[in-house]
Amino acid sequence: MSKIYDPYLNVIDVMTEAMEIGQMDKYMFEIIKNPQRETKVYLPVEMDNGDVKVFEGYRVQHSNIRGPFKGGIRFHQDCDLNEVKALATWMSLKCAVVNIPYGGAKGGVRVDPNELSHRELRRLTRRYAFAIEPLIGADTDIPAPDVNTNAQTMAWILDTYSMLKGKPCPGVVTGKPVELGGSNGRNSATGRGVAISTKLILAQDNKTFEDVSFAITGMGNVGGNAARILFHRNATIIALSDVSGGIYCEKGLDADEISRFLEIKGNYLKDYQADGVLHISHEEVLTCNCDVLIPAALENQINEDNADRLQCSYIVEGANGPTTVEADKILEEKGITIVPDIFANSGGVIVSYFEWVQNIQSLTWGRDEVKEMLEKIMTDAFTELLEETKKCACTLRMAAYIVALKRLIYAEEIKGIFP
Ligand code: GLU
Repeated sequence: MSKIYDPYLNVIDVMTEAMEIGQMDKYMFEIIKNPQRETKVYLPVEMDNGDVKVFEGYRVQHSNIRGPFKGGIRFHQDCDLNEVKALATWMSLKCAVVNIPYGGAKGGVRVDPNELSHRELRRLTRRYAFAIEPLIGADTDIPAPDVNTNAQTMAWILDTYSMLKGKPCPGVVTGKPVELGGSNGRNSATGRGVAISTKLILAQDNKTFEDVSFAITGMGNVGGNAARILFHRNATIIALSDVSGGIYCEKGLDADEISRFLEIKGNYLKDYQADGVLHISHEEVLTCNCDVLIPAALENQINEDNADRLQCSYIVEGANGPTTVEADKILEEKGITIVPDIFANSGGVIVSYFEWVQNIQSLTWGRDEVKEMLEKIMTDAFTELLEETKKCACTLRMAAYIVALKRLIYAEEIKGIFP
């Protein structure tokens, strides 16, 4: 029987192990372990039928020692303060590992957005933006999209915030529509970063996308874009899943056609039909015989109940926290190489950083420039991770945590404790 999963304890466990392997002084760890601020808000919303519902929302600001708080906002029925706390901590580590000048934060609303109409969702988002307005700002805390939120959500937050301030404030959110100051390439950036991470790890074994088969769980912004980008580079994607279940085709799935199918509201993979395509469960996608597994859905997908059954050689973590501490040990024993979430899915926040820089300077960068700079930042960071794995004889996850913690601790040390 697996123990009850707690994402925040999970990240603390991994950080604690990295502190030991990296032989870091524990003096500042107590500070880095705890978020700087946790906020819970109650959001009354008038529903279309005249009823009033009150939703719970959160914003956890983990650290701003390396720069403004930064991190997405998710809308999910299972979201709670503890999950947001873990996600905020991962954001501080993520920004530190790729060395962009941000701290970490995360927000969330406990709601199933599929049960709300467009107008209800807009009212809820605006009310949430109003509730967290005192906390956010272009130089204090910058939200972005996450699970079940997108450029439209960011447009509503941006507008609510700008109305309250009485002036346009494009830098308050990233991942907004290009027409409102968003960056070229931001929408697909996390998926692109996952593809870059995959390319980097395969190159270590002299392999390319064409040499391996892929399975991807989750067809949201991260999984969907990763699938399309890999498909365009001649990768064979044999299995995919979304909330409704999975599909499998040994010869390879057409990620373009599937993405177009899923764009239609109400369509799920369970309804997708094509020659040679079999319908399988989400668990069967995770455990299928593939070379590269990309978990791109929620946390805790790979745990001690299924880790032993995984048949892949590489895991590239598109989601935040998809693998539990217990599963990590099992996978290490099985010799599966894991490219950890805080590096593998950092493409989103890296391009968020580019968007913010463009907003501050009132500039627009081209798509190719964005892609090139994203690849450079990720390649440089990956080289550092490889060096750390050699120095500490550890996994890539441990190396990523060590690199990130060293940066956070160093910043904390030179700044000192206030007052
Ligand atoms: N939600 C994304 C993440 O988990 C992006 C965050 C951002 O761009 O601030 O990394």
